This record gives sequence, structure tokens and C-alpha cells, in this order.
Amino acid sequence: MLKSRRWVLLLLPLIVLVDVLLYRHVVEERHHALVDAEAVLQVSAEVVRGRMDQLLDTYDRTLTGVGEVIAAQGGLHAGNDLYLHRLLVRRHAITPGLRWLFVVGHDGQLAVTSSDFPSPRADLGDREYFQAAMQSRMAPFYIGPLLTSRVYQGQFVPVSRGVVSDANELLGVAAAGVEPAEFVRLLSEQALPDGYSLHLLLNSGDVLTCFPSGGDCKDRNWADDPHFRQWQEGALRARFPLAGPGAGFYARSERYPFLVVATYDQNRILERWRQGLPTYWLFGLGGNLLLLVLVLFSFRQLQRRREALAALEDANRRLESRVQERTAELYEREVQSRIFMNTALDAVVVIDGNGRIQKFNRAAERMFGYQAEEVMGRGLEMLMPESFAATHQQHVQAANHQIAVRAMGRGREVLGRCKDGREFPIEVSVGSSNEAGGDLHVGIIRDISERKAVEAELQRMATTDGLTGLLNRRAFTGEAERLLALAHRHAQPCCVMMLDADRFKRINDTYGHPVGDRVLKALAHSLVGELRQTDLVGRLGGEEFGVLLPGTDAAGGEQLGQRVLQAIRSIRLPLDEGELSFTISIGAALSAGGDDLEAIMQRADAALYVAKEGGRDRLAWEGWQPPAA
Ligand code: GH3
Ligand code: MG
Ligand code: MG
Repeated sequence: MLKSRRWVLLLLPLIVLVDVLLYRHVVEERHHALVDAEAVLQVSAEVVRGRMDQLLDTYDRTLTGVGEVIAAQGGLHAGNDLYLHRLLVRRHAITPGLRWLFVVGHDGQLAVTSSDFPSPRADLGDREYFQAAMQSRMAPFYIGPLLTSRVYQGQFVPVSRGVVSDANELLGVAAAGVEPAEFVRLLSEQALPDGYSLHLLLNSGDVLTCFPSGGDCKDRNWADDPHFRQWQEGALRARFPLAGPGAGFYARSERYPFLVVATYDQNRILERWRQGLPTYWLFGLGGNLLLLVLVLFSFRQLQRRREALAALEDANRRLESRVQERTAELYEREVQSRIFMNTALDAVVVIDGNGRIQKFNRAAERMFGYQAEEVMGRGLEMLMPESFAATHQQHVQAANHQIAVRAMGRGREVLGRCKDGREFPIEVSVGSSNEAGGDLHVGIIRDISERKAVEAELQRMATTDGLTGLLNRRAFTGEAERLLALAHRHAQPCCVMMLDADRFKRINDTYGHPVGDRVLKALAHSLVGELRQTDLVGRLGGEEFGVLLPGTDAAGGEQLGQRVLQAIRSIRLPLDEGELSFTISIGAALSAGGDDLEAIMQRADAALYVAKEGGRDRLAWEGWQPPAA
């Protein structure tokens, strides 16, 4: 509200300024019209005066010439009437504007005219022009007010000059009647716009003529006018005020008794100016209205802009605060995610849909030996053994087609490869998402080397004998069954042997249990040394061992058995009190007709019994005797 008031305060001086300028223009227009009018007054008065002077000069010369002739002839007398008449006729002919020329005798009687000869009789002694000549023998050129002719029809303006003899006697008066129209013509030649008027006045105040001739200008006698009286005394030309609105200017002749008065009627002069006023009014009003509308319009525009700006600012503020909130939120999430990523004990590796690494946390750095910067944007294959890397890209493509979980899924155990090329077992769980605009696969990777080692150790412990490092009974029988089935499938022979240390109880009793253990270890070592890679050996319990020889027939078995017996025989176990040697007995059996392991082992066991009974340190076969050596 306050602002709009300020606008109005700005608007008002503007409107006032425009109005003042317009008003000044209007006043100036008026002033110029009046100044122009004054100039027209002066110029036209002067011009008409000059012309009138010239015209009267013509008349004066004509009359002077006539007077000189009369004076030269010694005055008027009957003898020169005709001559003078002819002179007047000639003069009349060459002097335009004259109605007639005539001469009055010193007695006041009309003597000669240019119109008739002889002259009509008329007493003109009372005429002013004659009186003037009588009173002043030196009377200069005379011009009088309009007269009505006593001889002819019509009116005329008399001009005259007295004719004086050398003795300064009045010989007569040479005169002429000027057509009043001549003066009208003189004035009307000066083209004047409406509102001006020209007056031809005699010094007496009588009006000779005026233009435009309407109204009562001729009847007016200026002799009573106070201005006129001043002019008679004063300057040759001057401006004077009119009674009504307007002004006048007079120009007086230096040579002849007349003056020209020009006046203008201010009301008429300003008519055109007044006619223009409504236009100015309209212009001013329209201008004011236009200004008002313009200002209001721009005010509204400004207000709208201000409102729009305010709205925009508000929206910006809201947006900014939302952005700030979101940024803080994102930052918090980012921080959380970073904390999560970097404090996670498992390696976290994120790849995009092209298999390019996007995130690589600290645990991953520790696990693979790479810094995050080294792997960013590179293919995940660099973290895999070469054999797997070749097919990995296909897995990623498949993952992009939503079979990610099937392809990799949860807790899959594969091999990883670290920077130094070492390969190690890892367990990988992969989750996929395309929420962030593109495919992302997040792999949680755990190094399972230790677990694998523990598992392997447990496995080993579960299957091997702690003392000799051979398979224990359970592992031996399991593996033996598998090998036996394999031999059956390929229709190969298979030999099974049971070995038992001879008189072992005695060794234990004689040298102690630890020496017995050493004997068992030495026995196992020697036994393994004699067997092939493909043969299976296990400790079945106590001082009893089992051997399975795939692809070995009786002859092969006999050969090997004898070699083993000899090898054991030749062992010398060093003791404090000397060396200890020992022997073993072997019972052997061949697989036949698809017997199961248990059956074969029973037969081998039976053969072992036979070997023991037979004196020990020997090999016995169940149901088969080797050819005598
Ligand atoms: P034979 O010649 O008839 O086989 O006589 P032997 O004494 O070897 O037979 P026996 O089965 O009576 O004795 C086996 C002995 O082996 C009994 C046991 O004390 C001993 N023995 C079993 N397991 C171990 C072992 O792990 N270490 C030691 N030092 N002795 C064992
Ligand atoms: Mg035994
Ligand atoms: Mg024994």
C-alpha cells in the first residue's frame, strides 16, 4: 500500500510537468500569434503609407504643373480658358484615379474643368480646400474629406494646391477630385488576413477610407480620440492600445497630411489559436490519461513481477531447504554406507551392469591387496583366477537378466585371486538391483581360507590315524569299497591284504609302549614305501593294517607281499640298548565274483590266521597257494 502511494507521488509531478509544458506551449502559441499580428500591423501600415505618399506625389506633381502654367500665364483670364481646359484634359488622361481636374479662380468661382468647356458656373468659395488656400497663401498640398460634387453627380476626395503669383497673390486653386475607390483600392491591395483593418485618416481626424470597408469606420471621426490627439503631436509612427481587445499601429506621412492606421481585433486574431485549444485540451487530457494508464500498467506489471519474484524466491527457498534436507539425508546415508562398507569384516565389491567395479571397501582392499583406486572402473575378472575370469562376463550378462541370484546367489564358494597372483577360497553372496537407474551387483565376499584349512584338518583327522598318518579303518573301508566297485566295473582283479605285527604284545611288554608306537610308525612308513601310488593302505586298529591293491592279481600280490615282508624284516629300530627288528604276517585274498569288501577282508583275515599258525613272518593266501619257489 505504501509503495503504491509512492507511485502516485511519482506520477503526480509527471502529470503536472506534462501539463505545464503543454500549457506553456499553448501560451507561447498565443504569444506568437500576437507578436505576428503586431508585425503585420507595422508592416502593412508602413507599406500603405508609402503607397499613399507615392499616389499623392503623382497628384501633387499634376496640380503643381497646372499651377505653374497658370502662374506663367499671369493668372486666370478669359483668354487662357481653353488652353487650361485642354491642359486639364491631358493631365486627367495620364493621371489615373482622378475623376476630374478643375481650377477655381481667386474669387471662388469654378473657372476651368477637365470635363466641360466652357466650365459650368459654380461658387466654390466656401469649400474647405479653397478656404485653406485663401488662409495660407503658402498652403501646401491639401487633401480633404469626402465631398459631394455641386456640379456633377457623385462624391470625391478633393486634392488641391493654391496657385500664387510672384507677388504672393492667390491666383487660384488647382484641384482634382479623386475617386474614393482609388483609396479603397490602395488599401485593398495590401492583402490582410481576417481580423485586421486599415484606415486612411486625414490629419484632421476625418476618415478617407478604411478596409475592410464594413461597419461604421467611415463615420467615425478620430478627432475626439485621445490617442489621435497625441499622435498629432508625437511620433511619426507608434503602437497604441485599442479600447477593446486588440492593438493598433499608425504611420504618419512626413510630406502629406494623412496617416495610416492598422488595427487588429485580438479576438479574431486569436480565433485560430482558440480553435486549436480543444485539440490541446484533448491532447493534454489524453496525455494525462495515457500517462495514468501507462503508469498504472507498469505499476501492475511491476507488482506482478514482484509477486512472481516473491513466489520464485519462496519456491527457491523451499527447494533449497529440501535439497539441504536431502543432501543431509544423503550425506548421512553415505556416511552410514561408508561406515558400513569400511567397517564390514567381509569384503564388499559393487559392480555395474558391465562388470565394472564401482565400490571396493577396506576389507576388500585387505583381502585382495589392491587399493580401491587401482580397481575402480575395471573389470571384476581381475579378482578371479584366469580359468573363471573367461566365463565371468557371461554370468554378469545373465545377472542383468534377473537370473543373478541363481547364477551366483548366496554363499557360493569360489576362488579369488589377489594382487600377487595367489588364489584363495572365498565365499560370495551376490545381490542385484537396478533401483539406482542401472544394474548393480553387490558382492559380499568372505575369505574362507582358514575355514577351509580347519575343515581340511578335521577331514584329515576324521580319516587318518594319528600315530602313523595312514587312513583309519573307517576311511580305509570307505575308499576300499569305492576302489573295489571300480575294479569290479572294469573287470579287473583286486587283491586285499591284512597285515599284523608278530608278537607285538611282547615288544610292548619288553620295551614299553612308546617303543611299540615307534615300531608301528616304522612299519607304516616301510609299508607305504613299498606300495604304488594307486594302492590303498590303512591302519585297521592296534598293530593291524589293511592294504588294497587294485588291478593286482595273485602273482602280483605274492610279489608285493614278499617284498613287504622283506622290507619289514630289514628294519633296524635303534634303541638305547641296541637295535630292534621285528616281523609281520600277511593274509591275502583276491576279490572273486563280485564279493563285497567285508567278505574279502574276512577271507584275508582267515589267511592271516593261517600265516600266524604257519609260524609267522610269512604271507598266506586264502584258498590259493603260491607255486613253490
Ligand atoms: P601274535 O603274534 O599272535 O599276533 O601275538 P601278539 O602279541 O602280537 O598278539 P596280541 O593281539 O595278543 O597283542 C596285540 C597287542 O598289541 C596288544 C596291545 O597291547 C598291543 N597294542 C595294540 N595297539 C597298540 C598301540 O597302538 N601301541 C602299542 N605300543 N601297543 C599296542
Ligand atoms: Mg593282532
Ligand atoms: Mg600281532
